[in-house]
Amino acid sequence: MGCYRGNSRVRALTQRIDGYLLTDADAGPYPRPDAEMTPTPTQTPFTATRDRPVLVLGAGPAGLTAGYLLAKARVPVVVVEAEWQVGGIAKTEVREGYRFDLGGHRFFTKAKEVDRLWHEIMREEFLERPRMSRIFWNGKFLDYPLNGTNVVKSLGPVELTRAGFSYLWAAAKPKGKEESFEDWVSNRFGKRLFQLFFKSYTEKVWGVSTKELRAEWAAQRIKGLSFFSAAKAAFVGNKGNKIKSLIDRFHYPRFGPGQMWETMTDDIRRMGGDVRLGAPVREIKFDAAGRVSEVQANGYRIRPSHVISSLPLRATVGMSDPAPPREVQEAAKGLRYRDFLTVALVIEGEDPFPDNWIYIHEPEVRVGRIQNFKSWSPWMVPDPSTACVGMEYFCFEGDDLWTMSDEDLVELGKSELEKLGLVSRDRVVKGYATRVPKAYPMYDADYAERVEDIRTWLDELPNFVQIGRNGLHRYNNSDHSMLTAMRAVENLLEGTGHDIWAVNAESVYHEEDVADEHPYRQAPETPAMEKPLAAEPS
Ligand SMILES: Cc1cc2nc3c(=O)[nH]c(=O)nc-3n(C[C@H](O)[C@H](O)[C@H](O)COP(=O)(O)OP(=O)(O)OC[C@H]3O[C@@H](n4cnc5c(N)ncnc54)[C@H](O)[C@@H]3O)c2cc1C
Repeated sequence: MGCYRGNSRVRALTQRIDGYLLTDADAGPYPRPDAEMTPTPTQTPFTATRDRPVLVLGAGPAGLTAGYLLAKARVPVVVVEAEWQVGGIAKTEVREGYRFDLGGHRFFTKAKEVDRLWHEIMREEFLERPRMSRIFWNGKFLDYPLNGTNVVKSLGPVELTRAGFSYLWAAAKPKGKEESFEDWVSNRFGKRLFQLFFKSYTEKVWGVSTKELRAEWAAQRIKGLSFFSAAKAAFVGNKGNKIKSLIDRFHYPRFGPGQMWETMTDDIRRMGGDVRLGAPVREIKFDAAGRVSEVQANGYRIRPSHVISSLPLRATVGMSDPAPPREVQEAAKGLRYRDFLTVALVIEGEDPFPDNWIYIHEPEVRVGRIQNFKSWSPWMVPDPSTACVGMEYFCFEGDDLWTMSDEDLVELGKSELEKLGLVSRDRVVKGYATRVPKAYPMYDADYAERVEDIRTWLDELPNFVQIGRNGLHRYNNSDHSMLTAMRAVENLLEGTGHDIWAVNAESVYHEEDVADEHPYRQAPETPAMEKPLAAEPS
């Protein structure tokens, strides 16, 4: 166990960038790239120079992929990142040697070129890991996704009878017009099963009552599970039941996803590219022809040939000078996000469960999921006599959870772990809280229209392109975020004319195969909507 190849170099380089004016030169010289990293021939004349490099905004998976591919093609490239760490939402936090993800990050993709790139970067450090994740309900572990047999067996005779009557009642007197998630599920399963298995977790994730979620959306999400098939399966077996199987193995860097992004950063620098940390972009200046003329990133002024941006759409609109047309600004103001926070707790002794993560359906606690980082990779936990779990809370920036002090969050995590009967609080040695702003771009009734309005403006900008997850306001996992970067680089270098917005346009949830549509009847007004478009998280 120890330091992997990306870490020390990244730190050394970031320490010596103070006062460096990017318009003068880049931070070279760097050692030449590995022999195996042969340049991709460019087919069209390309104008990036050291004075006018391609500028990439944000060093998450998307931005780094763009930086890596450009550096590999020997194109002068500068990546600027607001934080002092790379990886964006997919980074790995390291506290006192304990490593944890902000939401466990599996590496799984159907896109072969992304898979190839992951292996190219990680090589032997890319572990293949088994997946195990279950639902924790009423002190018991149930299969995920909910499996009828399991549910019926776990209910016990009293609750099963209650659920049975509740089901019969719903069947005899169904609610005529199904408007909400609650109506839809209760009509099919009865109120009791709805309350036991559907209400609590759904409300934690989406932040509103299940009365405020659409019935059509419930129909999309809950497939292949009915009360009768469940009961039948419980008593006569589950043969031939085609409950969707989930991916049961995935890749994971030995030291967590951060290792992927830090190694990539290291490689970009070795190939002559430049990655600047602690450089939040504050202004993007456009000339009269709509070309980016200058970008201001915390004191650095950069005059790029082209810009590839993974900044949230909202921020891009807010930072543009001159400001985009009023309707574009209005569209951006309405874009909202669900935020997220992780409380990592270090526990003396054994892991509390063998799963990578568990879903918490208990309504009396606020935690939504719990990660077990040693199951992801044993190298995530420096002391093998301890365990480290990540208590995950879905929230809105500015709400009571978000604004709670770190100490109180750690206390909340401890008390909830104990309340669930998983770990007594005296076994929790210490804890760390991390907030993740804009974790989920929210899909509401008019988000697609808003994005389209912003896109219409962006399409007219000849040397500026948006990529990534919040960059396109889409639930892209890191593979699709990276694929958008690959397409943007191909467009730049080879003039391919790919439509970046078409990447992953067909699906929202890859695993569950659910069509792209929005859950909210009326999306909640979030505290962060009141803030200026380009405001930093509070
Ligand atoms: C809870 C959770 C679990 C997830 N699990 C998985 C998983 O299992 N597998 C998977 O593949 N994906 C997963 N994802 C999705 C994955 O995290 C994203 O797809 C990926 O991080 C998106 O990459 P990105 O580069 O587009 O954006 P980001 O990761 O958001 O990176 C954007 C970067 O831009 C920087 N930035 C923002 N503003 C500025 C500014 N003004 N100036 C400079 N820099 C700026 C940010 O600091 C950040 O580093 C998960 C996401 C969440 C929230």
